[in-house]
Amino acid sequence: MRTMGFGRDEMKETPDVLLPTVEEPKTPVKSLVRVHFEDEAYELTYFNDRFDLKPGDRVFVSGKRAGEVGIVNSVSTKFRIKVSNYERVIALAQTPIHGTYKPIADKMLSYDSAALSAEAFRTWVMPPEEPASEEEDDEIIYGDGYEIPLDDPHSADGVDKAVFGRALNYCSSGRIGYISLRDGVGKAYVEGEQWYELDFRIRNNTIEEAYCDCPYPGLCKHLLAVAVTLSVMAQHGDLDLGRDFVLIDADRFFNMIKRNGQTITL
Ligand SMILES: [Zn+2]
Repeated sequence: MRTMGFGRDEMKETPDVLLPTVEEPKTPVKSLVRVHFEDEAYELTYFNDRFDLKPGDRVFVSGKRAGEVGIVNSVSTKFRIKVSNYERVIALAQTPIHGTYKPIADKMLSYDSAALSAEAFRTWVMPPEEPASEEEDDEIIYGDGYEIPLDDPHSADGVDKAVFGRALNYCSSGRIGYISLRDGVGKAYVEGEQWYELDFRIRNNTIEEAYCDCPYPGLCKHLLAVAVTLSVMAQHGDLDLGRDFVLIDADRFFNMIKRNGQTITL
């Protein structure tokens, strides 16, 4: 007769001292890090007690460069400082890239469930979301969202000709950093004046319930640029909108791989 249960025989072998099965969280090595920001000629120094940092890591910091991605240039553990004199490293961009990707024009396409998630890409370009403070009366309210037919984005309700033209420029200028679809739910990150986060659904070859967090009070170039990109790729047979997918700007993708020292197989 078979007994249900796990490894009854092995139980006898169990040593008296059990090793912990959960790894103890490591305390990061406190460090002073030199961080470089785009458009900044010199490096800035930050105190870090949250992460085990190494040169090349992408980080977010407190202080006047908050919200911008900085690159760690050097890490020192030999210091004595007065903590109040320093701003801190507050977040580390998640960088490892997994999955199988296929290059298509200036994008990398993956149908792999292990491919870079929207949450992970977000850390490349946006600061971590601050926990909502209770005093602030700043709730998010949704209207209906936009609808854009993917067989002809130009025919969407509310398309402004000039805005559509700007959207076309966006498509070819590497501003569309990331688009993904998971179970019909879409997410995209587009770089305009700053990075914007877009949410939408795809149903019956139509983008529905589409929102962009930019301040433009209409169907914006960011939403249209995402729609045109998906539309063109699908019409050329380069993208199957019926499957879950991830699309990443190729330049950004390869930069990140270079920084990680990762090697990939295409
Ligand atoms: Zn927008």
